[in-house]
Amino acid sequence: MTGRSVEQLIERFHAGDRAALSRILSYVENDRPAGQRALALLYRDTGSAYVIGVTGPPGAGKSTLTNALVRAYRTRGTTVGVLAVDPSSSLTGGATLGDRIRLLENFNDDGVYIRSMATRGEMGGLSTGVGAAAHVLDAFGFDAIIIETVGVGQDEVDIAELADTTLLLQVPGLGDSIQTIKAGVLEIADILVVNKRDILGADDLVRDLRNMLRLGEHRKWTPPIVETMALRSENIDGLIAEIEKHGAHLNDTGELQQRRERRARHEVLRLARRWLTSRLSDVLNEPDVRAMLTSLSCRETDPTHVAAEVARRAAREQARAD
Ligand code: GDP
Repeated sequence: MTGRSVEQLIERFHAGDRAALSRILSYVENDRPAGQRALALLYRDTGSAYVIGVTGPPGAGKSTLTNALVRAYRTRGTTVGVLAVDPSSSLTGGATLGDRIRLLENFNDDGVYIRSMATRGEMGGLSTGVGAAAHVLDAFGFDAIIIETVGVGQDEVDIAELADTTLLLQVPGLGDSIQTIKAGVLEIADILVVNKRDILGADDLVRDLRNMLRLGEHRKWTPPIVETMALRSENIDGLIAEIEKHGAHLNDTGELQQRRERRARHEVLRLARRWLTSRLSDVLNEPDVRAMLTSLSCRETDPTHVAAEVARRAAREQARAD
């Protein structure tokens, strides 16, 4: 795609054309050069959306809660973009790709846009494509962006990097509640949502979570515990009130700016690391570098010397490509 046609696409995007939005999201998701060009052109228009992360174990009710949140936001006139991320389906060949989107309602409303992404990052966790897709929705003008993903390993941590407010869903009935929360995961929660409050064990779970939070009371923000019944849209307004309270806290303490700076740093680091990694692989295949590796294996040189040369060449190649 030429630079000119990307510009035309961006013009349509700015005019509110949803087909242009979908095209750009596909380019970004597939890490195409047109996606990078589009991002460079629209990045300045980002920064006004409020980003909410929704994570938790499979079956906790994340899709149901996301639907309920979208409905509640729409009654307030807030426009919402949703990224339903399924990091596992890229491992299973995309077999469950349709599932996440199927769970989300068809809102048939210009104020809502829902996108399913089956993607996994190179080093585990969410791919850079998710953050980039959030930028695209932000630039399109959605007031709120919900990024929903199942909590597996690194993903909850990554979602917290992308979100202003992270909701961690927990549900009763998954066995010993304390054991179900992996170490460190509680730390990423800005709000703890105990969903399915209608089923047995909800009170015990709330009590256990409260005890766990007591251990970390020195934190500037103690995550509130919000009980919901997403299936019947119960206490969704209460949840939105807590999200707003957290947003106000971030603003008042300067933490919002700090988070966004951290996010910028994280994003640049990821991108630069990815570029350099791919340059490093190229350099390692250069004939004279291969010869260096052979002499290294014969103990004629040392790894530090070769690594320094490889790193120098990778940086030079990257500079040439820019
Ligand atoms: P996800 O895998 O976390 O996205 O979970 P889903 O949203 O697909 O929900 C899993 C199941 O839990 C579905 O059958 C939902 O209908 C059900 N569910 C969601 N919220 C509630 C709730 O508040 N109470 C009850 N009893 N079931 C719920």
